[in-house]
Amino acid sequence: MQEDSDEQSETHYLLPNWRINEIILIAARFLIDEGYSENTFDYKKVISSKGIIIKGYSTFDPDNLKELHKVSLSLWNEGLCLVFPDREKGKTCCMIAFNDNKNVAEEIMKIILHEFAHIKLHHTEQSPNAEAEAILFSEAVLFLILPENGQRTKLKVALSERRKRLFEGIKARLIKKLNLQGGCMKIGCK
Ligand SMILES: [Zn+2]
Repeated sequence: MQEDSDEQSETHYLLPNWRINEIILIAARFLIDEGYSENTFDYKKVISSKGIIIKGYSTFDPDNLKELHKVSLSLWNEGLCLVFPDREKGKTCCMIAFNDNKNVAEEIMKIILHEFAHIKLHHTEQSPNAEAEAILFSEAVLFLILPENGQRTKLKVALSERRKRLFEGIKARLIKKLNLQGGCMKIGCK
């Protein structure tokens, strides 16, 4: 949804602990299944290879963009997630759009991964619950692959050798970083 006002209302949404665990595991599995390795993981390529179209906001007419926000699965202003049936081809079309006014690669990555999460987690409508899940998924992926967090190698070992303890350690650090103790997610919807 897009409003002209810049006011941001913050909602606290409670994701149950089992779901937090599940989403972190889905994020970790996604990375491993897509063959992510030290320096060759191209998240845009991986997402595009699933038939998902990725576009910048600048390629849209601003009025169209406003309309598309209404039918987006995402409540976030920085991105769009559209899933619609293509009856002619008999398949589902998925498109992600992101605010390409940003010039920090990590911010763009966070938006695209957030929007991808709505597809990956099979969300069907806008809801605070879906937002919280998408935020968690994108944060988890970033945490696991950004070199400065030092988790990349550990994750590979943890999942490929089924080292549950090591994975639990990674998860605990992520939960602490995101301040998720007690399963409380703070989300902001404009
Ligand atoms: Zn969203």
